[in-house]
Amino acid sequence: MIGGYMGKVLEVDLNSKQVKKYALPHHMLELYVGNKGLGARLLYDLLPPATDPLSEKNVFIVITAPLTGSGAPSSNRFNITTKSPLTGTIVNSNCGGDFGIHLKKAGYDALIITGKADRPVYLNIDGENVSIEDAAELWGLDTQKTQEKLPPKTGKIVIGPAGENLVKYASVISEERVAGRGGVGAVMGSKNLKAVVARGDQKVRVAHEEKFKEICKKWRELARQHPATGEELPRYGTAVFVNKCNATFTLPTRNYRYGTFSEADAVSGETLAEKYLVKNIGCRGCPIACGRLVEFKGKKIKGPEYETVGLLGPNIMNADLMAIIEFNYLADLLGLDTISLGNTLGFVMEAGEKGLIKTNLAFGKIDGISQAIEDIAYRRGFGDEMAEGVRYLSQKYGGEEFAIHVKGLEIASYEPRGAVGQGLGYAIASRGGCHIGGGYAIYLEANGPITVDPLTPLGKPGLVVLNQTTMEAVSSLGCCIFTVYMFLPRQLLELNARSPFASKLIRGTFLYGGNLIGRALSLPAWTLPVKPPFIMLPQVWAHVYCTGQRFTLGRLMELGKRVVNMDRIFNLREGLTARDDTLPARLTEELQRSEEPNSRVPLDKMLPKYYHFRGWSRDGVPKAKTLRTLRIDPQQSHPAAAVSSESATTGS
Ligand code: SF4
Repeated sequence: MIGGYMGKVLEVDLNSKQVKKYALPHHMLELYVGNKGLGARLLYDLLPPATDPLSEKNVFIVITAPLTGSGAPSSNRFNITTKSPLTGTIVNSNCGGDFGIHLKKAGYDALIITGKADRPVYLNIDGENVSIEDAAELWGLDTQKTQEKLPPKTGKIVIGPAGENLVKYASVISEERVAGRGGVGAVMGSKNLKAVVARGDQKVRVAHEEKFKEICKKWRELARQHPATGEELPRYGTAVFVNKCNATFTLPTRNYRYGTFSEADAVSGETLAEKYLVKNIGCRGCPIACGRLVEFKGKKIKGPEYETVGLLGPNIMNADLMAIIEFNYLADLLGLDTISLGNTLGFVMEAGEKGLIKTNLAFGKIDGISQAIEDIAYRRGFGDEMAEGVRYLSQKYGGEEFAIHVKGLEIASYEPRGAVGQGLGYAIASRGGCHIGGGYAIYLEANGPITVDPLTPLGKPGLVVLNQTTMEAVSSLGCCIFTVYMFLPRQLLELNARSPFASKLIRGTFLYGGNLIGRALSLPAWTLPVKPPFIMLPQVWAHVYCTGQRFTLGRLMELGKRVVNMDRIFNLREGLTARDDTLPARLTEELQRSEEPNSRVPLDKMLPKYYHFRGWSRDGVPKAKTLRTLRIDPQQSHPAAAVSSESATTGS
């Protein structure tokens, strides 16, 4: 077995209580590696096309990666992959809680859940022993109480009332971390599955232990020295982006009507650090520790991240940071995705102003928001309709032009009319309006250290391809996507800050070379045989994995491309087309600023080039040659290499 893997997956059918344990074929691990990539392949192979996401036939996959639990820094991530009830697309929701580590200690690389229990249950994985336990006493509890009642010293994933009530954007919680997007919590709820608990005492085997430790030590040092991962994120958390986005017209304000908020500083990461921060917290083994522990009504609780601040703050014209902390806390307890929640509130407020919906919710008014959050989680009154998300509301009541979603997923907290490459990213991300799955080009356009003209489409398709490919690869190895900041070496950033000439040159290279990069990335892996010293991931991968193989930047990029294409063929099989790669009219037709004629997203100028660099047809379909080069077999086949079958014990 290659290093980094435990050698088997666990499949549990909640209908029949049948448990299967099987190894995945070697070639599958080599091609799709882990987390998002391997999850996409497994879902493609296991899910019958056109399955209703909330039916018992949907497949719920919790998956790890070779670096999860290996000791590599910032790499204890696990992933939930399923078909989204919010979008009907594939959804991959990544989480930094400790469940992935414990699942591997129990001896499994992935957990696959099918069927539906006939009553509320939780799944108890204790190494080889797997049992389905009664969860009647847990059902109805919030995510914190549920975790407290489950066995201690275990890894846990749980849902709150929102998941139980099939809110389309219900989240899954592990410790205080969240797998938030796309309604993965509703899929658990639809299976009557309140929680999964895992424990074990196995160790993740690393091929070259000494060398691996040495490289990881270097990696930690690089992370500490880098301005993004050693300075900004630890000091201010991800909310450091509030003031940066505000300065670049990319802070969504008043349901994405504007890109700046006059009271942004009051809700910024700097203010959060100054007034409420108790200490930094982070995912297990992460030297960056971007999380916040804050003081709230005498309790110490998790503070909000940038996305939450943006969408429950400026997007609803709320400048009360304490209220945002409270809404975030409530949303986590109930198990709701704060990005979709903030968008839904913003949409309802604007629809209310325009007389499309009768509501007491209004921009700038925080009274009634906590009540609305509870009503959504429990599907009470109008909360029942808000629980369906922005797409549903706009189709029923009107206002589709200002319904800020893509493919049904409410978009993240970056206003793309201030960074048009980010707009392309939202349009093409496989799970819908996602900043990460779309490549987070904004970091090269507006809120990072290098700002490549944010309002031009020039070079952006290539930069989106570069960023998206990189992030998909990093994520599939189990590593946090914030480590991608380190791909821009510290020395380059220092030069950029020090010398206006160098800065102009760097920006020009990205701008005019962006599409060359995109073209280069359509070439096979062997054309990029390099191992840049500041990109540690190929080296870490090599030392955890096995001997005798070359791990280069080219191989890393090939992995990212494979993941993008795998997601794409899943979505096409579900009936999505290029027409779904779009943005709401507010972002493509309305100018954000009347004095700036380029302050809208020229999607039509970027999309064809993006498809071209991806090796897709003009209709956005991967060409046979593209799939062949990436060794993606579009045939659906069960992945089990060898199966052993048993029945789960059932608790009293
Ligand atoms: S950078 Fe933040 S989100 Fe990423 S692993 Fe570290 S603590 Fe978790």
